Amino acid sequence: MAVRLDDIGPLKPVLDRHPLGLATDIDGTLSPIADTPDTAAVTPLCRRYLEEISRRLEMVAAISGRAPEVAHRLVGLEGLVYIGNHGLSWWRQGREETLAEAVPYEAMIGQAKKDLAARLDLPGLLLEDKGPILALHYRLCADRQAARVAILDALAPWTTKGLRAREGRLVFELGPPLDVHKGTALTHLIETHRLSGVLYLGDDLTDVDAFKVLRHWRQEGKVSGAAVAVANPERGPEVMQEADYWVDGVPGVEWLLAAIASVVAEKRP
Ligand SMILES: [Mg+2]
Repeated sequence: MAVRLDDIGPLKPVLDRHPLGLATDIDGTLSPIADTPDTAAVTPLCRRYLEEISRRLEMVAAISGRAPEVAHRLVGLEGLVYIGNHGLSWWRQGREETLAEAVPYEAMIGQAKKDLAARLDLPGLLLEDKGPILALHYRLCADRQAARVAILDALAPWTTKGLRAREGRLVFELGPPLDVHKGTALTHLIETHRLSGVLYLGDDLTDVDAFKVLRHWRQEGKVSGAAVAVANPERGPEVMQEADYWVDGVPGVEWLLAAIASVVAEKRP
């Protein structure tokens, strides 16, 4: 169970490590939860401290369920690694790259989008095409429960055909049936950057995959690391169970990033 973090002290052993990396979720972590994906914005303080941290760490990454181009635009900083679609796509040299094993599913997802748009007549439903993933947001539907049931029903033929549907916070995501998630993305980052210290911040169930992977690396004695959950009214209990520490909402993240920035500035002037 996560312990509330209101002092940077417990993270010092991680911050002492070299090479050190920080990976963070975006929505609900760096930006307050918004009614529609288009209205979310990373707070100026989060951006400022992330920028300061990124100048001193070996790696800073944003790992999001968004398309990587959107993740890059939302955070708005160069020099970070941007991973989108929960690990399926990466932002590299100004363009999106999808993992080779996901590419064959893109045509089927395009067909699913047409089919679902035609069959689901739900005012407020938002279909978001993210390349290898189709997101169905029902936050703005008047009767969310009825919308959820209708979406599940409409998705069934596509999951029978082999696509995978994942349920998030007032959203379903239809994508390839691959074992790719934020945790596999984090492993890739740890390996490529040969990280010895790792901090991970996130607020949602999809971040739990990264929390678990980080714990595994730590238990193997390969990294020193900490998973920090961001508490918000919509988070599931599992997020708190699987994290090491928690902070309160985006203001808590701003405090934490400021504290990290000041520690690493002292150590690495
Ligand atoms: Mg989030």
